[in-house]
Amino acid sequence: MIKGLKLNQIENGKNSMTQKTENIPMTAEIKAFLLSVGTADIEDEKMVLPTLKSTAGPSAGSSGSVFITSNGRRVRLNLDQNSPLKIRKIPESDDIEVFDSTEAKIVVTGKIEPALAHCPEQAYINLSEKCIFDCKYCSVPILQGHTKTKEETLKIIRDAFDKGNVKAISITSGVEKTPEGEVERVLELMPELKKFNVPIGVSVYSVSGGSEKLKEAGVSEVKYNIEVADPEIFKTVCPGLSENDVFGELKEAVRLFGRGKVFSNVIIGLGETDESVEQMIEKLAEIGVIACIRPIYENALRKGDCFMERPTPERILKLFEMQKRISQKYDLHPEKSETMCSLCSGCDMVPGRDD
Ligand code: SF4
Repeated sequence: MIKGLKLNQIENGKNSMTQKTENIPMTAEIKAFLLSVGTADIEDEKMVLPTLKSTAGPSAGSSGSVFITSNGRRVRLNLDQNSPLKIRKIPESDDIEVFDSTEAKIVVTGKIEPALAHCPEQAYINLSEKCIFDCKYCSVPILQGHTKTKEETLKIIRDAFDKGNVKAISITSGVEKTPEGEVERVLELMPELKKFNVPIGVSVYSVSGGSEKLKEAGVSEVKYNIEVADPEIFKTVCPGLSENDVFGELKEAVRLFGRGKVFSNVIIGLGETDESVEQMIEKLAEIGVIACIRPIYENALRKGDCFMERPTPERILKLFEMQKRISQKYDLHPEKSETMCSLCSGCDMVPGRDD
């Protein structure tokens, strides 16, 4: 049960459309609940044009997503007709409500926020939708999609600037041939990207010497993903990758970019314990790295390839409290991030933003 949730216009298990919908602002508890479900069905897809397909990371290949903002918080939900959550327009209003069909109640009201390129407020581009690695939760190695040309990338960015207020350019990439090649791909773009005059964040596979080149080229923040909290699980789900190598480059990145300017995704729901997550958040914080605690997206293309379980709202909140405490202890401020996921906050609970 969600704390702070109000029953709203429910009569005999049905929502009465004749009564005015009460405002139900998104609290941290409600966001944790929405993240634990991770999906929503939408009454009318025209409410979220264009429908955005994810091309990066574990949720790649999903059928699109929607961003909901309410009470200063943002959540991203993957569109899924079978989801228990239904997004409905509130009559005579620009707002929407999210109806939980399992509990027969409205869980939150808010607005649908348009994405500029992948997410609101940013031009966030995935350069290569291919990968030579085979992390067992990730559909990119199976999909082996398209690698964008420089012109395609710049057009997406220009279109994002035409659509709205772009606060940052963020770049990620799979690995088409080599991790070094992806750093070079970013470096080639940098002279053009700098002309847009907004902070630039880069999340690629870490390579020795890569941080120095990215820093010199004008990148503001970097993210190298450690992905898995438990080192034993890491070995089985991310074959061919080295946790030690990622850590080494994270340290080097903090030396160059500064504490709180370097990030790392830690995926939740791969069979790790809360203790291992706490240890990982602290291990990262000690060296000045901010963890992005990311609930696993159980991609249908990877069904059976590894253990995947979306965390409960209670677990998401517990880990959020842990991260807040550790962030304070090491004087890290995720809410001050200028680029990438801690700026967006659609997929994670972000200390300082979602408190
Ligand atoms: S939190 Fe990161 S992965 Fe999620 S929508 Fe925002 S930018 Fe994309």
